[in-house]
Amino acid sequence: MKKIEHIGIAVKNLDTANKLYSKILGIEPYKEEKVDSEGVITSFFNRNGTKIELLQGVKKDNSIDKFIEKRGEGIHHIAFEVEDILIEIKRLKKLGFKIINEQPKKGADNNLIAFIHPKETNQVLIELCQKI
Ligand code: ZN
Repeated sequence: MKKIEHIGIAVKNLDTANKLYSKILGIEPYKEEKVDSEGVITSFFNRNGTKIELLQGVKKDNSIDKFIEKRGEGIHHIAFEVEDILIEIKRLKKLGFKIINEQPKKGADNNLIAFIHPKETNQVLIELCQKI
């Protein structure tokens, strides 16, 4: 693990949340991106290397709407940057963690990503991400 790459926040309305976080951070999102594999749209803020990802569900049965239904809006995941995601998945599996995506997939913002199951991480969804 290198560092926290970003913190993901589940929101009901991306436009409203963009305006809110623009006020808090004093900057505009540097990108908005649809992630088809997840059925979500995302926006990213970068304040001196600290990144926030806002996520809104768009497709039916997406994980963000399910999360909001269960727990309300709020912090959805913490993403750690890793050097080599395959090696990291292997290492964590050996330690007994359940990896949701054993085959990493393409996530937002040019990253290969995989998630560790939150049941084994104090209900915190952890994303591993490797820059492509
Ligand atoms: Zn993320």
